[in-house]
Amino acid sequence: MVKSNIKNLTFEELEGLMLDNGYPKYRARQIFQWIYKDVEKFKDMKNLPKDIIEYLNENYYIGRAHAIDKQQSKDGTIKYLLVLEDNNVVECVLMKYKHGYSICISSQVGCRMHCSFCASTEGGLVRNLSAGEMIEEIMAVERESGIKISNIVIMGIGEPFDNYNEVIKFLKIVNHKDGINIGMRHITISTSGLVPAIYDFADENLQCNLAVSLHSANDEIRSMLMPINRKYNIEELMKACDYYIENTNRRITFEYALIDGINDSQEDAKTLSKLLKEKLCHINLIPINPVKGKEYKRSELSNINEFIKIIRESGLPVTLRRELGTDIQGACGQLRKSYLSDN
Ligand code: SAH
Repeated sequence: MVKSNIKNLTFEELEGLMLDNGYPKYRARQIFQWIYKDVEKFKDMKNLPKDIIEYLNENYYIGRAHAIDKQQSKDGTIKYLLVLEDNNVVECVLMKYKHGYSICISSQVGCRMHCSFCASTEGGLVRNLSAGEMIEEIMAVERESGIKISNIVIMGIGEPFDNYNEVIKFLKIVNHKDGINIGMRHITISTSGLVPAIYDFADENLQCNLAVSLHSANDEIRSMLMPINRKYNIEELMKACDYYIENTNRRITFEYALIDGINDSQEDAKTLSKLLKEKLCHINLIPINPVKGKEYKRSELSNINEFIKIIRESGLPVTLRRELGTDIQGACGQLRKSYLSDN
């Protein structure tokens, strides 16, 4: 029989498993707590009877990933390349903020969104990550670094809403008080704009933060940068965002990577302000991270400042993302990309 990764089970699923097999329900809590205390083997779960340990050994394993490469930036940001059980690799980034440590995790091996400025998508999608593998990104990085993580952003490799069910499951597991116990308010999901999933996510009514990668308020430019815009254009995307805001009463962060001569003119800033006017939102500007083999350049500082000024004047909250780890190929997928081309 093929064994499965026990880290893929939510607390409730583990309870169901115990009951279905004739074990007391409370055993689920004990097992769950041991998993997230990071025991390596079922036999180390000291308060479990032999028969449950045997049952677990026969049907499950405790999935682990480990770092095969690590790059530390001058600013303290550390990027890890993790190898999964089938030898695929993903990356995650550990960042220090004022209020603790944040991790940026991947949701897929590769990506099929084909955004033209992004290094993660070049080889297309290899496969989805399971909830347990996303959990293990956090556990592996905590293990490697000795640091307790308090915030999660799902902004690494992959489109989280293209792996919707596993991502939702991941949120439930990581949020559980007997496990890793990170509050929904400390988690942010970023999407390139998969409209049907935004509606679904709004209906989940979680306290989790949503970021939408916009990068242009003009359909022609956005379609050129992000092919997903040809399927769900800006108007449809905005309708979904309005639905999300109305249903959850939560602010959306719109991400906007400034690219020299492409989307950083005063005209672009005005179109953006007009599009988002009166929305419960926040605009996060990111100077584009140049990616090897792509012609995109960062905007001039004077353009960035002018862009910010126009948005501020329209009354919308805007920040320029603090840049971390640019000296270690901080942008999505760059470390995996160089690993794949070297091997
Ligand atoms: N697929 C999701 C999450 C992963 S990317 C999404 O698209 O939102 C996280 C953010 O980094 C996105 O806003 C993405 O557009 C942006 N990004 C990708 N490559 C970049 C680069 N080279 N420079 C700056 N931002 C980049």
